[in-house]
Amino acid sequence: MSIATTLTQVPVVVDEGKCIAEKGCTVCVDVCPLDVLAIDMLTKKAFMKFDECWYCLPCETDCPTGAVHVSIPYLLR
Ligand code: SF4
Ligand code: SF4
Repeated sequence: MSIATTLTQVPVVVDEGKCIAEKGCTVCVDVCPLDVLAIDMLTKKAFMKFDECWYCLPCETDCPTGAVHVSIPYLLR
C-alpha cells in the first residue's frame, strides 16, 4: 500500500510571486466548482483552502498569470 504518500501534498499550489489577487483578481476562486480556493486575507494571495479537488483544471488554465499549478495524481492521468 503506497497510496498515502501521493495524497499528503495539497493538489493545487499557487505561486505567490505570480498571483495578482492583491490587484483584485479572483478568477481561480470564481471558476472552481468546488469552492476550495480562496484569497488569503493576510498575504492577499490565492491558496487552496480545502484539500479537495476534481482536477477539472479551469483554475490553472484561466489564471491570467499562470500562477496556479494543479498536480494531477498519477492514478488519474
Ligand atoms: S487566478 Fe491566478 S492571479 Fe488570479 S487570484 Fe487566482 S492565482 Fe491569483
Ligand atoms: S482543478 Fe477544479 S476542483 Fe480543483 S481547484 Fe481547480 S477548479 Fe477547483
